[in-house]
Amino acid sequence: MRIVHAAAEFAPLAKAGGLGEVVVGLCRELTRRGEDVEIILPKYDFIDPRQLFQLNLEVPDFKCLGSANAMWSAQAEGCSLHLLEARHPAGYFHRGKIYGFEDDIARFTYFSRALLEYLRLRREPIDVLHLHDWHVSLCAPFVRDLFQDLPIRSIVLSIHNVEYQGKCATHDLDAVGLCGADYLQKDKLQDDNPKYPQTINLLKGGVVYSDAIIPVSPTYAKEIMTPEYGFHLDPTLRKARRKITGILNGIDEKLWDPITDLHLKPTYRVESVRQGKKKNKDLFPLATSHTPWVGAITRLVPQKGPELIEKAIAKTLALGGSFLLLGSSPIEHIQNHFNQLKEHYKENPHVWMHFEYSESLAHRLYAALDLLIVPSHFEPCGLTQLIAMRYGTVPIVRATGGLKDTVFDCEDYKFPVSQRNGFTFKAPTAAALESTLERAFLLYHSELPTFNSLIRHGMKADFSWKTPARQYPKLYQIN
Ligand code: ADP
Repeated sequence: MRIVHAAAEFAPLAKAGGLGEVVVGLCRELTRRGEDVEIILPKYDFIDPRQLFQLNLEVPDFKCLGSANAMWSAQAEGCSLHLLEARHPAGYFHRGKIYGFEDDIARFTYFSRALLEYLRLRREPIDVLHLHDWHVSLCAPFVRDLFQDLPIRSIVLSIHNVEYQGKCATHDLDAVGLCGADYLQKDKLQDDNPKYPQTINLLKGGVVYSDAIIPVSPTYAKEIMTPEYGFHLDPTLRKARRKITGILNGIDEKLWDPITDLHLKPTYRVESVRQGKKKNKDLFPLATSHTPWVGAITRLVPQKGPELIEKAIAKTLALGGSFLLLGSSPIEHIQNHFNQLKEHYKENPHVWMHFEYSESLAHRLYAALDLLIVPSHFEPCGLTQLIAMRYGTVPIVRATGGLKDTVFDCEDYKFPVSQRNGFTFKAPTAAALESTLERAFLLYHSELPTFNSLIRHGMKADFSWKTPARQYPKLYQIN
């Protein structure tokens, strides 16, 4: 099958969070299974060409809406890439980072159209055009209404986070050659929120015009059809329910492997996890006397429950443990608040906080921690709990979305003992998180064999891409 993915991220070349890791993991596994997979992404200025192999200028000059583009082909991470160089005067992808600009809508709607112009030049039959998130969702209406000549059999949309929908005005569609006013209709791209009847919603366009929708976990697939989790897109998602199938993400088991991880000192395996963790704690400037070490590795945004993370720090210290936080926030007031918190704890030898995006620190921290908290208000799939389990770090999670599908409480009798791998709580409240921390500390200090069994179950579980990659081709045979 020939599958063309379109996305804004591809790890590690262009990664802002889980999306980039998922795109590379899925595409690599589908390629390994013998599918003909290509990925189109913007040629960001910060992409390091040393990470690309067989970099060739494929199409030197093709026009999109009057401005020039070039397409490069390359191999990276076992995948075939096409890097779209937009020579648009606004320098759309020459900004040093992926997102966070006032014209993000213009940047990605342009990318959506330009990539279809490129596919038009190639004229090769495509079985599946697989779109990821709002950034490229407009490709779906484009294909149906403006690029009908493209030999594309079906369109699939993955929803990695329904909070981000790409809301804009009709003139934003006019700017890329669609008549915006025509799409301001309930059954097209008009935003479902009745408060904003003049708003165009790009992700909605993806949902309405695609043949299949894939949210990144089964529980999240159900949740986003409810007003509580749907961010006002739930009416459209409920209507599209027959096309929706949740599939869990995997993780890159080579990248995240404590047996071979070059960031660790020393590496370790399930038999040596206790010693391995002890020694990896030495890479951090904290006394090892106060255990367990509890931590979080996360974007500090409302979704991730930053206020609950703050409570967890205090509770961990009260229980006699240590807390380590690696995270950063794109939201100024949240970052400022955590800067103050760091100042508040600066004399405390059992707290470490670091506000930077650092791959190497993340690897080391997964290895050094005993418990990882993920108190998210919603979580489409979540990768940190999966990575933590690979490293023998027991997750404490709020039972929502993919967290609910992957973490099974040590006291939950609905699951066989061999499946139980962590701690879960239901309400996103400080009280629920705190009492779960108490349970975890109790088990760690008084029932070590049971705690160790949670570590073992997590380390031995298969969270690779193998299982999900078997499910995708079934969905791809949509027609
Ligand atoms: P999201 O995509 O919503 O941010 P996920 O749990 O799906 O959350 O994926 C987060 C990914 O980003 C994980 O691989 C995690 O290790 C990584 N990550 C988050 N914050 C940092 C950080 N400050 N430094 C390094 N890696 C981070």
